[in-house]
Amino acid sequence: MSAAKEDVCNHVKVVVRVRPESQKEKDGNFKKVVHVLDQHILVFDPKEEEVTLFHGKRLTHRDITKRQQKDLKFVFDAVFSESSSQLEVFEHTTKTVIDSFLNGYNCTVLAYGATGAGKTHTMLGSSEDPGVMYLTMMALYNSMDQIKEDKICNVAVSYLEVYNEQIHDLLVNSGPLAVREDNQKGVVVQGLTLHQ
Ligand code: ADP
Ligand code: MG
Repeated sequence: MSAAKEDVCNHVKVVVRVRPESQKEKDGNFKKVVHVLDQHILVFDPKEEEVTLFHGKRLTHRDITKRQQKDLKFVFDAVFSESSSQLEVFEHTTKTVIDSFLNGYNCTVLAYGATGAGKTHTMLGSSEDPGVMYLTMMALYNSMDQIKEDKICNVAVSYLEVYNEQIHDLLVNSGPLAVREDNQKGVVVQGLTLHQ
């Protein structure tokens, strides 16, 4: 891979976080469908031996009438296991874009996954265990403080929700908002409020 290509690739980072089983999942007769092999490799539909060995005891005996496990390995920039902390996830994801952000680049952090996968826990967290958004704000204000002699930073926030294909501003009470294409600003959500 050439240096230039590597640079381009480094602009997008894809990580996976596996959440712990819920009590309901532990109580039910479920089988694990993902297994974290190491910091970069995730196994989807792992062979049973791998899962049972992971727990240190054999839970089920292989049923030869059952279909073969797919045992697919996927490589990511980082894979976080069930025991990963909010800080670990933050330090290997958003933390690394704060410097680029303060140098004027547009940066996006996106959490994607099925309902119950752990997006809200990872991004927002709780007051006892704050997530990536909180940790990012702390780091951002720290960095801004360090460069305050050289740069003036203004921070403004908007917060919207897309639900049932409708957009709502979560910082003011308003009806559904429309997406428009603006000649200067590109794609905008019309009427979305910005709070400094
Ligand atoms: P989503 O927002 O993707 O629908 P949630 O963040 O609400 O999913 O997570 C579903 C449930 O699993 C919540 O009860 C949440 O507290 C719990 N959960 C998710 N991720 C973790 C984690 N890494 N550690 C502990 N509990 C988690
Ligand atoms: Mg959620």
